[in-house]
Amino acid sequence: MTDMTDPRQTALAQTLPATVPFVAPERMEELRGAPFDARLGANELSFGPSPKALEAMAQSLSGVWTYGEPENRDLRLAIAARHGITPESVTVGEGIDGLLGNLVRLYVGPGETVVTSAGSYPTFNYHVAGFGGALHTVPYKNDHEDPEALISKAREVGAKLVYLSNPNNPMGSVHSAQTVQDMIEAVPEGCLMILDEAYSEFAPESTRPAIDVTDRRVIRFRTFSKAYGMAGARIGYGIAHPVVATAFDKIRNHFGVNRIAQAGALAAFEDRDYLSETLGKVALGRAKIIQIAQDNGLTSLPSATNFVAVDCGQDGTFARAILTALAARGVFVRMPGIAPLDRCIRISVGRPEELEVLAARLPLALADARAAVA
Ligand SMILES: *Cc1c(COP(=O)(O)O)cnc(C)c1O
Repeated sequence: MTDMTDPRQTALAQTLPATVPFVAPERMEELRGAPFDARLGANELSFGPSPKALEAMAQSLSGVWTYGEPENRDLRLAIAARHGITPESVTVGEGIDGLLGNLVRLYVGPGETVVTSAGSYPTFNYHVAGFGGALHTVPYKNDHEDPEALISKAREVGAKLVYLSNPNNPMGSVHSAQTVQDMIEAVPEGCLMILDEAYSEFAPESTRPAIDVTDRRVIRFRTFSKAYGMAGARIGYGIAHPVVATAFDKIRNHFGVNRIAQAGALAAFEDRDYLSETLGKVALGRAKIIQIAQDNGLTSLPSATNFVAVDCGQDGTFARAILTALAARGVFVRMPGIAPLDRCIRISVGRPEELEVLAARLPLALADARAAVA
């Protein structure tokens, strides 16, 4: 390849590695020359969104020539009403990923520090690098993020932001509301805690601390990508003290959320029956994955999400060999990036027929993987 550096870019941009951080399943299908039979790698909701959300999106399609409403007013009002807060405490953006980028841009100057767990959700780290922040990590403890270690590291390095996903991706583990609340109480002066609740709808109520928008120490993020089945629509929201939430207006992409996503999210948010139906189907799917793993002599980690981390019983090389073999056999899954988490593969709940494909092909993939690492 030719030299890809460009001296006109910022000094920071020139230090960043050229990268494609996420290899899409579509690209993998192209490389293997066939579509996947089971798409279980991206924690999407294979059941899709509420029919009411689909209808609302279809209705808004012909209005796509108009910009979205830049204040996301209707959705913010609905979210605020549900939580008994004012819309000034709600900011809507292009998924949690977009919101994380804006949050880092607001809070982290070049060289300033942030803290997360080694092996946790990578998009946050990606934004930190993009704004010149310095990332510090602490290890997981028993496959859970370690709130005490996160806080003491944040204190030690004078962090501007400390990140916790509850429930956690990629392990599926969750802390109690009390443990999370204790972490919020311990956030050092000058630091903001990010509570990423991308999967919180799947988790028991007892894992969600009460929302308190008078507390400036924490911002919570939620999304329509997971439990609401709208990952491709790119819409999520943050809940925080008004001073924190309204700050996004200073820098966000005001027309970043399109009209179709706005209409779909509002309808999905209001369709609580569909959400509870979804949660039931996801619970069944989790049980099925656990059963499939057990039938193959593998243990599953407890999960409060729409995926299950399956412990493959050896190191990352072996787990990666299983992943590769599954992909070759038409099953798309992903896995944690670093040890010791990478002894696991992460399997998303799919439709029943996709989980049947997994059941049929996992034994073959395991045999392939054992032969490959022997
Ligand atoms: C999937 C995921 C997100 C991304 O959510 P979007 O709203 O689709 O950007 C954020 N955080 C965690 C922990 C996730 O797993």
